Amino acid sequence: MPPDPHARRLNAVWPAIWRGLKCRCPRCGDAWLFHHYIEQVDNCAACNEPLSRYKVGLLLPLVVITVMVHIIGFVMLEMELTGHGNPLVYLYVLVPLSIIVPIAILPSSKGAIVGLFWAKGWSDEQDR
Ligand SMILES: [Zn+2]
Repeated sequence: MPPDPHARRLNAVWPAIWRGLKCRCPRCGDAWLFHHYIEQVDNCAACNEPLSRYKVGLLLPLVVITVMVHIIGFVMLEMELTGHGNPLVYLYVLVPLSIIVPIAILPSSKGAIVGLFWAKGWSDEQDR
């Protein structure tokens, strides 16, 4: 029986996700995964790994919204429990938080998803 070509990648899921979280190439970790804010490079500048084939699609907003719901929910619960449940405090704290945090976590979230997809071999090349 021939060896499974994906066996190496299946073992490298967490390192690939970690490199993606750092916005680095999931294979080598040396070059940037994005050349603009969240625009993926076509190929890694260091190892030439083709990265544009890993499309995150609607999983990215799902992950970001899920993280945001937990953060906002925790902050709202904490504000209510400590007696700071004033609507103006909500306005001054939660509105900027709900704008800044998604912008901040978007590249790392996309990098982690690309790392997962790369490690599992889930590319759009499988559809062709
Ligand atoms: Zn690379």
